[in-house]
Amino acid sequence: LISIQQVSKKFFEQEVLNQISLDIQKGEIIAILGKSGCGKSTLLNLVGGFEQPSTGQVLLDNQIVTKASKRCIMLMQNYGLLPWRSAQKNVELALEGEALSKIERQQRAQHYLKLVGLEDRLSALPSELSGGMQQRVAIARALAIHPEVILMDEPFAALDTFTRYYLQDELLAIQKEERTTILLVTHDIDEAIYLADRIFIMSPNPGRIHREIHVRSTKPRDRADSEFQHFRE
Ligand code: ATP
Ligand code: MG
Repeated sequence: LISIQQVSKKFFEQEVLNQISLDIQKGEIIAILGKSGCGKSTLLNLVGGFEQPSTGQVLLDNQIVTKASKRCIMLMQNYGLLPWRSAQKNVELALEGEALSKIERQQRAQHYLKLVGLEDRLSALPSELSGGMQQRVAIARALAIHPEVILMDEPFAALDTFTRYYLQDELLAIQKEERTTILLVTHDIDEAIYLADRIFIMSPNPGRIHREIHVRSTKPRDRADSEFQHFRE
């Protein structure tokens, strides 16, 4: 589905990414790990078409990715919520391009906000929500769009362990159902092992893929009905 071909990226004289090549199949979950500053977010921006490579190319279904491709949803490190809009409106606005009635948009927004445990904060502004709640709004917004590809930049970083586990499981369930392709940047090795089919470790200066790990285990944690259950209710 996605083919990253010998991609390098320079910002002014600084080479941030050097000769990255990586093919991603539809329905795969790929985790990217690496030290701060090694170019992980830059790589996601290139895959989403928000930046162009200095050399090499990024293909989606054999076509060069641009901003206009609109097939990748980016879940940003800083959430990217509109500050003067409620949680519900933030999700609804992302659905504006779709062939849905206003009521369907409202219902879908509510469904996904409920999924992330925010059903009682629908009308709250981002400034009235905690960091973890804002992050959950951003996750709900990304999932509500049913994108083909989700690019996630440390999506669960600001969340407590219980919410994180819960949302990881929800993400896997949705991902399985819709065969979403996910490219996930994380600093959490446990999260990478739990979610990903393949893990790529990057090294810095310039950013390169240092190592590829195939995660062979079937998912080890059976948390869905375990002792964590009561934290969700
Ligand atoms: P972190 O784990 O801290 O989020 P990262 O791996 O995501 O780090 P990037 O944000 O991709 O790292 O940045 C990699 C390098 O590229 C850094 O040295 C950064 O200063 C530089 N960089 C990123 N974006 C730009 C930009 N728009 N203009 C100039 N330099 C940039
Ligand atoms: Mg980053």
